[in-house]
Amino acid sequence: MTIQKPASSRVVMLMLDTLMDKPLQQTLEEEDVPALRFFMSHAHYYPNVVAPFPTMSVNVESTLLTGKYSDKHGIPALAWYEAANKRIINYGTHIVELMKLGLSESLYNTLYRLNNEHLRKDVKTIHEELQDRGFHTASINPLVHRGNEPNQLEIPGLVRFFVTISKWIYTNTANKFVYGRLSQLSPFHKFSHIWNKYGFNNHFSIQEFAYLINSEILPDFSLIYLPDHDKNVHKRGPTDQKGIIEMDRQIQSLLNIFPSWEEAIQKFHWILIGDNGQSFVKHDRKEALVDLRLLLQPLKITKLRKGVQQEDQIVLANNLRSSFIYSLDSINAPLTVIVDKLQQDERIDMIAWKKDEYAHVTSGKSLRTFQFKQGGELTDEHGQKWTTSGDPSILDLGIDHQKITFHDYPDALKRLYTTLHSHQGEFVVASVGPGHEFIGESTPSHPGGASHGGFHKDDSLIPMFVTGTDLQPASLRMVDLKDWIIKLVDPNNDEISSP
Ligand SMILES: [Zn+2]
Repeated sequence: MTIQKPASSRVVMLMLDTLMDKPLQQTLEEEDVPALRFFMSHAHYYPNVVAPFPTMSVNVESTLLTGKYSDKHGIPALAWYEAANKRIINYGTHIVELMKLGLSESLYNTLYRLNNEHLRKDVKTIHEELQDRGFHTASINPLVHRGNEPNQLEIPGLVRFFVTISKWIYTNTANKFVYGRLSQLSPFHKFSHIWNKYGFNNHFSIQEFAYLINSEILPDFSLIYLPDHDKNVHKRGPTDQKGIIEMDRQIQSLLNIFPSWEEAIQKFHWILIGDNGQSFVKHDRKEALVDLRLLLQPLKITKLRKGVQQEDQIVLANNLRSSFIYSLDSINAPLTVIVDKLQQDERIDMIAWKKDEYAHVTSGKSLRTFQFKQGGELTDEHGQKWTTSGDPSILDLGIDHQKITFHDYPDALKRLYTTLHSHQGEFVVASVGPGHEFIGESTPSHPGGASHGGFHKDDSLIPMFVTGTDLQPASLRMVDLKDWIIKLVDPNNDEISSP
């Protein structure tokens, strides 16, 4: 394929929630999806880019924007436990869960703390890095959007009627910043009264982006998040094509702003990328859902509404197909006891914890263990060095002539190691195999549909289209896209200043 260089080095990045290679290929074959077909024939297509673990949007966005895994950027997942403040953080898995945790606290975590406190200050986002170099950026609807530009979110009156929260939240963002109707650029439909109409949907993202193009104020880098397909796949399963067809229509409407589609890609670099995959979840609830409360009996688990109490032994932070399980009682509920209990369920395909400098792994399918640490004689597919012992089949690793290859769990060692070092606390991280989901108190579940959050390749591999360049990232992992994107925007500057 001959790739034509665009007229400018501006980059437009569309993040298409839950876009996956297999259903995309199927849809291209069977349905009329001209926009995706156009990209297929005018862009480089990479079917298997590795997303970080747990495969949840906030973690994915943080890794994309900082070019680091969670041990460096500090956002472990959608739900986690902040040991220092004895606080369960949840950026929004389910409204019932959030209400139990206290709505105003949860809203504040998502709207303020995520970007301004939890996302570590010693790493820079793409927005900050480019703004430092004099470029301008846009962020349309991602949860993670930290930049250098002082901005504010306006909390709608209806929300303030139910929740104690101030009208304005001050935050630093991309130069052009959209966060649903809480921070809107275009003058259209300013007022609305229904929660799901608050602008966190594809239609709104497209409307705001079109406004930037039509007003000719499109900055050097724009990240536009299209969230809708996540719900389609959760409900209808990973093979859903309806959502892809819908997304295609929305991308068409963007391309139609230009005199011709060719002109659109002659003007800018376009990157279309998924955020995480999803695994199917079995129909039968009993078979599909792994209830951690039953498995961990009789240990005392913190109730969401009450918060951590003196007598509690365990805190759960579920991220759909994975979970952090924290020990608050090192005498009667140490990690070894938690691991023993989790091992009783063969649907759990990965159980990991750290001890000394080693990460330890086992699974519900095996009584054996595997240990690894950073540095050593073995080199993996991404050039990372490791020392290992025990049974590597637990992580489905191939080890041959000092080389490590990954199969069911892409970039397994680095993703797991960094997750175990992403935050303070004594915890086990566990993930279920395809077909299953974890449940606890008030967690959402999707029997007969699909889900994500897990460690498996079903959750972890996403496709990417790139127009206008033959330049490739250092590796096809989300964590390696930042430096590459900056190079596309600023091709003449070799210095990558990320700490
Ligand atoms: Zn989801």
